[in-house]
Amino acid sequence: MNDKVILVVLDGLNLKVAQDCLGYLNGLVEHKKASQYSLYSELPSLSRPLYECILTGITPVESGIVHNNVTRRSLFDSIFSLAQSQGKATAAAAYHWVSELYNRSPYDAIRDRHTHNESLQIQHGIFYHWDHYPDQALLLDGEYLRQEFDPDFLLVHSMNIDDAGHKFGLDSAEYRNSARQADVILSDFLPAWIEEGYQILITSDHGMNNDRSHGGTLAEEREVPLYLIGNRFSHFDVSIKQTEICGLVCELLGLEHQKAFAADVLV
Ligand SMILES: [Zn+2]
Repeated sequence: MNDKVILVVLDGLNLKVAQDCLGYLNGLVEHKKASQYSLYSELPSLSRPLYECILTGITPVESGIVHNNVTRRSLFDSIFSLAQSQGKATAAAAYHWVSELYNRSPYDAIRDRHTHNESLQIQHGIFYHWDHYPDQALLLDGEYLRQEFDPDFLLVHSMNIDDAGHKFGLDSAEYRNSARQADVILSDFLPAWIEEGYQILITSDHGMNNDRSHGGTLAEEREVPLYLIGNRFSHFDVSIKQTEICGLVCELLGLEHQKAFAADVLV
């Protein structure tokens, strides 16, 4: 049994668009190799506050990371800090705000874009600061980190779906096609990850609206998918909160932690 965890965050992916457009992932669900849950994002439905929520289990209102320009390190234990302090290897291919929250803030591209430092919470990182950084390059970055450093916890965080939503809106061919493209790219990597027995979570921070933004309380801004793949998951029909993803990953990694998680999600 492999209890290594890969968490994929497809930034800005609305639930309905995921259900309509992610053909490969939903094929895994149809063939009982994955289960799909629906989450309601915490508020505000903005990226940096919800990266912190997913990775620490703390709501934006409690964490103080209440908008995208709060540029500082997290004040709370995260999957990264708990794993690194308990001897697990950590890695991330992610937007530079993740580096700011858990490694060093403010982000310095020359210093931080390629990070290899075992004393940091994210020991191996490839971070980017362009919203149009290709998802294909991002997935290759993540796969390089996985193969080269064999992390116990790997975060893979893409931005093209969110970027298309800001340019064209929720109800646009461009936004939907960006989701379809992410699904095709994922389908190049997921079979090997599944074959090697990883526990895999695929979710989003927030959804998207027709005003080409997000941040508020509309269902389309808050409803996001969570796909779970792996033999540690019960695949039972239970409700999961966005604040419980952190605790779920900590359980899978066998970490000592105080985070909330839904026990019936696991076997
Ligand atoms: Zn956005």
